[in-house]
Amino acid sequence: MYNPTHIYYMITIQCNQKCSKCSHWKQKDNAKRLPTEKIVKAIKSIPTARELCIVGGEPLLFKTEIYEILNELSDTPIRTTIITNGVLMDKPFIEKVAKHNIHIVVSIDTLDKEFWKFVRGTNSYERVFENLESATTDNGSLEKKYNFVIN
Ligand code: SF4
Repeated sequence: MYNPTHIYYMITIQCNQKCSKCSHWKQKDNAKRLPTEKIVKAIKSIPTARELCIVGGEPLLFKTEIYEILNELSDTPIRTTIITNGVLMDKPFIEKVAKHNIHIVVSIDTLDKEFWKFVRGTNSYERVFENLESATTDNGSLEKKYNFVIN
């Protein structure tokens, strides 16, 4: 019997960065969006599920869908992990998700501002670190565990 505990959901392949190491942002994603109810129904149909990992592309391009999924899973033992590049991880987003059973992983490729531009293809360094600062100082009730992917 196969009893999966971890589910990965690629919510989109679209991205708001242009990383030199990745081609996701070059892809067109013209597919019709799957209704959130169907996603949640599929997840809830797996009684052994304990972890949902939402990945992209950039998941936070679809914040409304993330809020809906989190609300729908709030009566389950499933913890949700969101892997983000941090650009859209603003204060309103953190305030909305902090009450849920959630784990946010922010990908940080380098601490060098100039190299960041090369790696990410954008000037998002300051925005990402402002968002990180805000998330870690303004939300006393939020359990803070940030994993950094530093290459
Ligand atoms: S942020 Fe992630 S998904 Fe987006 S282009 Fe960079 S590596 Fe690819």
